This record gives sequence, C-alpha cells and structure tokens, in this order.
Amino acid sequence: MPESPTSAAQDPRRRIPRTDHLLDLPAVVAASASLGEGVVRGLARAVQDRARRGEILPEQVEPELLAALDTRGASSLLPVVNATGVIVHTNLGRAPLSPLARQALQDVAGYADVEFDLTTGARGRRGAGARAALLVACPAAEDALVVNNGAAALLLAVTALAATPAGERHEIVISRGELVEIGAGFRLPDLMESAGARLREVGTTNRTHLADYRDALGKDTAAILSVHTSNFRVIGFTGVPEISELSRLAHDAGVPLIADLGSGLLAPEPALPGEPDATTALTGGADIVLCSGDKLLGGPQAGILLGRAELIARLGRHPLARAVRADKLALAALEATLTGPLPPVRRALRTDPEDLRMRTEAVAARIRRHTGLEATVVPHDGRVGGGGGAEVPLPGWAVRLPGALAAPLRTGRPAVVGTVRDGGLLLDLRCVPEDQEEQLLEALAGVSLGEEPA
Ligand SMILES: *Cc1c(COP(=O)(O)O)cnc(C)c1O
Repeated sequence: MPESPTSAAQDPRRRIPRTDHLLDLPAVVAASASLGEGVVRGLARAVQDRARRGEILPEQVEPELLAALDTRGASSLLPVVNATGVIVHTNLGRAPLSPLARQALQDVAGYADVEFDLTTGARGRRGAGARAALLVACPAAEDALVVNNGAAALLLAVTALAATPAGERHEIVISRGELVEIGAGFRLPDLMESAGARLREVGTTNRTHLADYRDALGKDTAAILSVHTSNFRVIGFTGVPEISELSRLAHDAGVPLIADLGSGLLAPEPALPGEPDATTALTGGADIVLCSGDKLLGGPQAGILLGRAELIARLGRHPLARAVRADKLALAALEATLTGPLPPVRRALRTDPEDLRMRTEAVAARIRRHTGLEATVVPHDGRVGGGGGAEVPLPGWAVRLPGALAAPLRTGRPAVVGTVRDGGLLLDLRCVPEDQEEQLLEALAGVSLGEEPA
C-alpha cells in the first residue's frame, strides 16, 4: 500500500512495539536464554511484520510473540499429528520412531561408547550393536553394513563394484522397467551414472526376460541389479525374472546380483504379501540386498546392506563408506527398533479395520461433545506411502469434519494434517497413536471456537 504523508500521523503501524521493548520483556529475556537470541529476534520480527501488514493489531504483537515463544520447539521443525492415513509419509518424516528408539536417541545424544570398548578401554567396533541386531532379524545375511540412507547404500554398492578405475567391469545390467524416479525428481539411474557406472538397460518397460539379461552379460559386466519399483505399479502384460533365476545367471557369469528393495522389510510382512523382503531375496540368491531403515522397517533414516560377508567387507573398506556412514543417533535408534516391540509403522500396517472403526466412532463422539462440530465417520483407505505397497489400499475409516478446518488445524499447535476431500476434512486415526488423541481434541477445540455448529 503506498504511504501518504497525511495517513502517516494516524498510521496504526506507529504503535507497533519496538524490538528493544519486546526483547526487554522478562518472558522474552528468559526465552532468549533457552532458545537463543537469534531465534527470539527472528520471532519478534515476524510478529512485527504481521502487524505492519495489518494482519494483527499493534496491541496484539506482545501477546502473539509470547504465544509464539511458548510453542516454539528446539528447532524450526514442528511435530505433526499425521491424520492422513499415509503410513510412510515422505513429507512428514517417513517413520515415527518407537518409544524405545526415542529413548535410544536420548541415551546417545551425549558422549556414548560408539567406538569404545568400556571393558578393555580399547577402541571398539562402530555399529556393532546394530549389526548384531540386523543379523538376528535376518539370519539369511552373513554380514550387514549400515549407511546414511537408501540412496547412499546404492551409491556405495555401485561405486565399489562397478566404478573400477581401469574401466573394466563397469556395467550394471538393469531392466528398463526398473529405471525409477523415487521422488522429488530423484532418479536412480542418474545416481548410478554419477558414480561412474554404465547402465546396460535390458528388456522393455513392462517385460524383461531372462534371455534379455543373458544377452547383455559380457566382460564389462560388474553386476546385475534388480530394483523394486517402490512407488508405482505396472499392471497387465508384465513380467521380470525371479530373483532365483537372475542369481543363477549372475553366478554363472561370475558377477554379483544386487537387489535394491527400496523398503526395509527384513522378513515377509503378512499385511503386505506383495512387498519384497531381505530374507526372501537373500535365500533366493541375491548377493547384496539394499534396504531402508525407515521405509517399512519403521526406524531412523538409514540404508542397510545385507548379504555375503566378503562383499559386505569389501564395501565397508571402500573410501566412500566413510562418507556415507551412519551416525550414532541412527545406529542407536536402528538397534532399538530391531530389538524392541513392533514399531509404529508396522502396527499401523496391521491395524484391524474393525478396531479402527470403533476407535474412530469414539473419537468422533468426543469431538461432537467437546466442540459441537459435526463429526461423522466415513470409510477411508489408508496407504503405505513412499515406502512401498504402491496402490495397495488399507481399508479403514476417518472422521469427517468441515473442510474449512483444514488450514487452521495445519497451522495450529500441534499441527494436524488430514486429507481434504469433497469439501470435507478427513482425519484418519491409523497413524495417530492413542496418546495423541488428547492433543488432537485440544487442537480441534482451539480452532473450532469461531465455528457455528452445523
Ligand atoms: C526410496 C528408495 C531408495 C532411496 O532410499 P532413501 O532412503 O530415500 O535414500 C532407493 N531405492 C529404491 C528402490 C527406493 O524406493
């Protein structure tokens, strides 16, 4: 809005409290000590800007700042109540950690015996606990290595096995139907080529035969790679060889078979019969299996390499292994996920639709009672999400509320994210732990005040 000299005199913006005044308020001084001065200044500036834009009155700057300081966490990342029904939600941090994994994060946040043997006082092996837990969970693997994420696991495997300086044995044989983009424009073929490997594409988008692979094998072949098309499904006239067929072919040619599962099932998951798992892939003859620590395994972000001892050792010795190694937080949380009770991701997968219906009915009734909002229960399919199980519906239910609540719930505290459909807001409780129900109701009570009960 253009400034005019006549309006400046009564300009309400002149009443906006100055930064010095705000920073001197006792509650703000205290918040500076705990959150850091830069953070507090940034919040003050943001509230002043809202007043300058006329979104709030100058008199509201002080209380708004105090409220913002009150709800500000240790970082700018905010916890979210995931009421979308999408279990491995790529935009919401993928896997929520189990209580035990959260405890493990706390335990190792300070100094910890990450690479130290407290008994002997000598250097210890990094990640020994996570490795042991992986081998218990997947006895078909001779050895295990944990790296930063799934992409890092693939990068390491391809670099160590196919990017030979002499340029020999640098071809990765892969089906054209498996050249996938896994999200946000990230393409696995680009990753592999950036590692210096050459992709030898075989077959077609929908069908690749064993003979296609066989014809491509030669003196340049470094490995055969099988990639799970995690986030899409080709249906109809389709087909790729079984892992066991590929492994026989690879071993006859003297090269390893790498299987990138994308997700992290270490053994078959009854709720997802179509999803690949590490045990089945290894017993089928894969030499190295790449899996995820968070997608479907339900732990921290990590890439897990399982398979033949000699190959895993070779990958572990490669210089790149250091660049992609897992940090102590991931190692601790992964071990706790593997040894502890079923993590939230797996529980959400196995949710019984009838249990979910009863819980949803009860929550809808509480919402009606506490807020006067019209809350009905409607059928709603949950989804596995970015972790796999593309297009597999997980039958369930949701609370349906007025669609106008979607935005205020998203920007409220805690933030609640649901799905807007046909003018309604659907809240699916599949991924909302029972101990978050109270928070959900409070969030709803907070935003529903101005709403007329329909
Ligand atoms: C997700 C995925 C990856 C990458 O895993 P990140 O943990 O996201 O790095 C690699 N391969 C496949 C097949 C995937 O689905």
